[in-house]
Amino acid sequence: MPPTPPELDFLLIGAGISGIGVACHLARGCPDKRFVILEQRERLGGTWDLFRYPGIRCDSDMCSFGYAFHPWPSDAIITGGESIREYLRETAEAYGVDRAIRYGHHVTRASWSSERARWTVRAEVDGPDGRTEHIFRARFLVMCPGYFSYERGFKPDIAGLDDFAGEVLHPQFWPEGFDYAGKRVVVIGSGATAVTIVPALAKGGADVTMLQRSPTYYLSLPDVDRTVALARKVLPSDLVTRTALVRNTLTQLALYKACRRFPRAARAVLLAQVRKRLGGKVDMRHFTPRYDPWDERLCVVPNGDLFEVLRDGRATIVTDEIERVAPDGVLLRSGERLDADVLVTATGLDVRLFGGVHVEVDGEAVDPSERPLYKAAMIDGVPNFATIFGYANSSWTRKVDAVGPYLCRLARHMDRTGAEVAVPEGGARFISDDPFFPLKSGYAKRATALLPKQGERLPWRTTNNAALDYLMLRLGSLRDGHLAFRPARAPRPQPARDQLAA
Ligand SMILES: Cc1cc2nc3c(=O)[nH]c(=O)nc-3n(C[C@H](O)[C@H](O)[C@H](O)COP(=O)(O)OP(=O)(O)OC[C@H]3O[C@@H](n4cnc5c(N)ncnc54)[C@H](O)[C@@H]3O)c2cc1C
Repeated sequence: MPPTPPELDFLLIGAGISGIGVACHLARGCPDKRFVILEQRERLGGTWDLFRYPGIRCDSDMCSFGYAFHPWPSDAIITGGESIREYLRETAEAYGVDRAIRYGHHVTRASWSSERARWTVRAEVDGPDGRTEHIFRARFLVMCPGYFSYERGFKPDIAGLDDFAGEVLHPQFWPEGFDYAGKRVVVIGSGATAVTIVPALAKGGADVTMLQRSPTYYLSLPDVDRTVALARKVLPSDLVTRTALVRNTLTQLALYKACRRFPRAARAVLLAQVRKRLGGKVDMRHFTPRYDPWDERLCVVPNGDLFEVLRDGRATIVTDEIERVAPDGVLLRSGERLDADVLVTATGLDVRLFGGVHVEVDGEAVDPSERPLYKAAMIDGVPNFATIFGYANSSWTRKVDAVGPYLCRLARHMDRTGAEVAVPEGGARFISDDPFFPLKSGYAKRATALLPKQGERLPWRTTNNAALDYLMLRLGSLRDGHLAFRPARAPRPQPARDQLAA
């Protein structure tokens, strides 16, 4: 068995955009702290390494999806998975955090002991001699495992799906080199993945039908930010990107708030730009949602590519419900039938918190769905612990750039004061009935039972406001009356058996 690494200051779980980002903040902000990232896969990048379906790309602009401390260098702001992967690899190397990643470590259990004021984390490692368990100890645990299962995608209950004679593909497990040219492909779904895959397949020569149960709102954006590209010609590139990061984050928030406040006007504007893009060639009923903008996630369409392939007939769109799948196609409620060689179930992810890790505090299991988050980053009653959960309406990485420096502040404060434990307390008094996640989409509904409780007010309310979180975490007082600092707890004497019985 390999030697157990020395006791760590921080242990991070997951080497995706969150784990790498937090680790870089630690390396920059508290270089004296020892940290390790445990990653179950053999490569870094998480989402951006796992998903390989045609056209895979971000739908946030890379100025705000890139890290503030390592600005995105290119003018292409809506970009493919491969360049995001390369950016993450290069960032990890630049700050030396690549050397802190332990690949092939699947974390199963994390246990906090108040007596030792330490986390004990167990990870399974497969080696030539079979599976072994490795144990790590750390003062702080930072959960960065994303929000979905890496083992399986969400499989909707579609009658007859198992009888389909062709290929059924889930975007999460796209077979490398799959040849779809000339094939009849039905893409089931209307979210960000379907909207990405449909134009990519159509441009690659497939005969594509996008089959949606209900329409979605779309926003067409250019994949290159001309203002940024122009400003970079005269100003330092990093300064321009950082300015664009602030501008884009505030614009996303303003757009979100405007949509929620003035839904009718927002709807009119969003539908008008789609109508213009379609040029009267496709029925607008496929693009006229029954809900208000931002009840569900707004989908970005870079350069209007989806509309282009629908307009010129390389792809078609059908709004209907599936009656059942037949061996050679899909039968719809309307009686229509779609012949298919390939079905793509772009129906979403299997939501999972904490990467399936069993978390316990002094032997008691922590169920995040019973507790509110503190400052949108820590969990009520869980000591020396932080989790990265991004935004519905802003780039995920905005949370990373707020929580990373907060953890450095916290560690320095604890060093100065001699505290061993920082634990948010009293959140139960501030729980509200409001949903934690502000969207009503299928995956948000499926996730509701798993997600933390929503709080009535700050610091227990998760506002989904990236600017507010940034201010609260970067500038807010550490001693706010909700976060308790303590020394390690002295071991409690074990009560005698007869005392217990009494
Ligand atoms: C296709 C797709 C496109 C997206 N596009 C955007 C976008 O444009 N903008 C945006 O803001 N958000 C987007 N998101 C949301 C996206 O998940 C986040 O942006 C971000 O990539 C999440 O990063 P993460 O590091 O938190 O999680 P992940 O990328 O999921 O990485 C988690 C890492 O933790 C590891 N891990 C998990 N469990 C364990 C365990 N038990 N033990 C050890 N390691 C473990 C995983 O192997 C993985 O490497 C997108 C999501 C998907 C699926």
